[in-house]
Amino acid sequence: MNQVNKPKKPLMFYYSIAILALLLINIVAMPYMAQRQIKEVDYGTFISMTENKNIGKVEIQDNQIIFTDKDDSNIYKTGLLDDPERTQRLYDSGAKFQKEIVKEPSILTSFLFSWVLPMVLLFGIGQLLSKKMMKKMGGGGNSMMFNMGKSNAKIYVKSSDGIKFTDVAGEDEAKENLTEIVDYLHNPKKYSEIGASMPKGILLVGPPGTGKTMLAKAVAGEANVPFFSMSGSEFVEMFVGMGASKVRDLFKQAKEKAPCIVFIDEIDAIGKKRDGNIGGNDEREQTLNQLLTEMDGFEGNTGVIILAATNRPESLDPALTRPGRFDRRVPVELPDLKGREEILKVHSKKVKTMPGIDYLHVAKMASGASGAELANIVNEAALRAVRDGRRLISQADLEESIEVVIAGYQKKNAILTEKEKLIVSYHEIGHALVAAKQTDSAPVQKITIVPRTSGALGYTMQVEDGNHYLMSKQEIENKIATYTGGRAAEEIAIGSVSTGASNDIEQATKLARAMITRYGMSDEFDMVAMETVTNQYLGGDTSLACSAETQSKIDEKVVELVKKQHEKALNILTGNKGKLDELAKYLYEHETITGEEFMSILNS
Ligand code: ADP
Repeated sequence: MNQVNKPKKPLMFYYSIAILALLLINIVAMPYMAQRQIKEVDYGTFISMTENKNIGKVEIQDNQIIFTDKDDSNIYKTGLLDDPERTQRLYDSGAKFQKEIVKEPSILTSFLFSWVLPMVLLFGIGQLLSKKMMKKMGGGGNSMMFNMGKSNAKIYVKSSDGIKFTDVAGEDEAKENLTEIVDYLHNPKKYSEIGASMPKGILLVGPPGTGKTMLAKAVAGEANVPFFSMSGSEFVEMFVGMGASKVRDLFKQAKEKAPCIVFIDEIDAIGKKRDGNIGGNDEREQTLNQLLTEMDGFEGNTGVIILAATNRPESLDPALTRPGRFDRRVPVELPDLKGREEILKVHSKKVKTMPGIDYLHVAKMASGASGAELANIVNEAALRAVRDGRRLISQADLEESIEVVIAGYQKKNAILTEKEKLIVSYHEIGHALVAAKQTDSAPVQKITIVPRTSGALGYTMQVEDGNHYLMSKQEIENKIATYTGGRAAEEIAIGSVSTGASNDIEQATKLARAMITRYGMSDEFDMVAMETVTNQYLGGDTSLACSAETQSKIDEKVVELVKKQHEKALNILTGNKGKLDELAKYLYEHETITGEEFMSILNS
């Protein structure tokens, strides 16, 4: 975990403090210090001190008298009165007449002390702080301009504990693809002899958290070469031209260290398509141009391999992805069942687990989870074990932590009313029962009605048996019916509907729309794409590509489709009303029901 640092105060803050201090010194402290030693007394005191012969030195000024006591320990002053006998009296008292008893600081000294010295101090502090900032920005050089265009790529020089391919579980295709690079870095001659040149750039594309960064590090680790890593966003600076100079600097360093690997994470930050708009992002475009130039600039066999990662490959500039630059694209997809099991095992090696944990089962429960999520699941399990005061992680820890990662922690203080609890029970059982009746198999791993911090009041954990790459029309329709099952159960058992189905409605609509606009599963539109996916790895946003009339027709079709499935769900539940009541009652009482319990009640 990252250490949380106190936020740094801006430079302005220190300057304001210094200026305030300067004013304070001049306005309050200096006059006070000058006045401090001189005590003001009345004329009577002066006379009585003279008469008591308690006077050391005396100076008569134009408008006041400055004098000291006998042993010169105190300085006094008093106003000047018309007193003709004063001189005689003073003379009699034995006082010494002296000029400048209190030395006024010379104008030069006071100027030096009150203005020049503080200015010098201020300048010194400023210098110190700006140097500190420079160091933080990278390099730690002397002048600002000198430093700004430097790349601050982190160099991971080869080390024995570097990440290896074995640390990256699953992703076999990606690893196979990259093994060639490792082989080339080990033995470039083998390739140059035959005239082959290595791809200059390799683009790792895939959803977040699938191990793209890890793979890049693993290539460097396997090949035992230096690894430069930089994020695309780090190139783009406030000033136009800085990013470009950073790119130049990075490549210069890389060429010096060749053979080596340069890794640019989130390359879409600089590699986005250049658009024709006037006044576009000049800095980003210049940086991209520089990157393109640099990639052209070095020969194929210099030993510098550029790896880049992105989860938005479609947004990249075509000039960047053409052969000769990033000419190879390695997909790093979400792990399949086997991949998930392996990732869990890899991460479990770092923690202490009980013997005999069924990782396959856990992997089945965590369908759709990315590598990063799986790593998080193992860590959550370890935390749970510690919380319970155990020394080893159990199967239950892993299973519970899947729910934590997917649905959030159990909400301790969310108390549902009895009525709400009943509605949620029926709702969740509705989903499960519709699913079970359509496929005749256990549809779920577990259903709970314990509220979660994600906001879910109830929660059904699906189990995926094996991998599915295709879905038939029938299967999608069944899925839509299952989504509508929750609401259908409320209608049948409670007689009214609640807001609890909003997420189901969203999912069902999405699926129904996709069937019509993208999968060609409607009779009317045949195999015509009405929608295109614009953001494959980040949520799969779509944009419509049809006329307004077609759009309204699509909307009608979507409604028709969902309605039909909703009716199907209603029919299934009405036909099994007894089981619906029985199961919902069980869930209401126990708050959790497992897939097996569910099936045994259903089949009894
Ligand atoms: P990305 O760059 O694709 O967003 P990372 O490479 O940064 O993802 O992965 C984040 C974390 O997820 C890693 O530090 C690792 O713990 C875990 N992880 C992801 N994929 C895998 C995998 N295939 N094998 C092992 N751990 C993985």
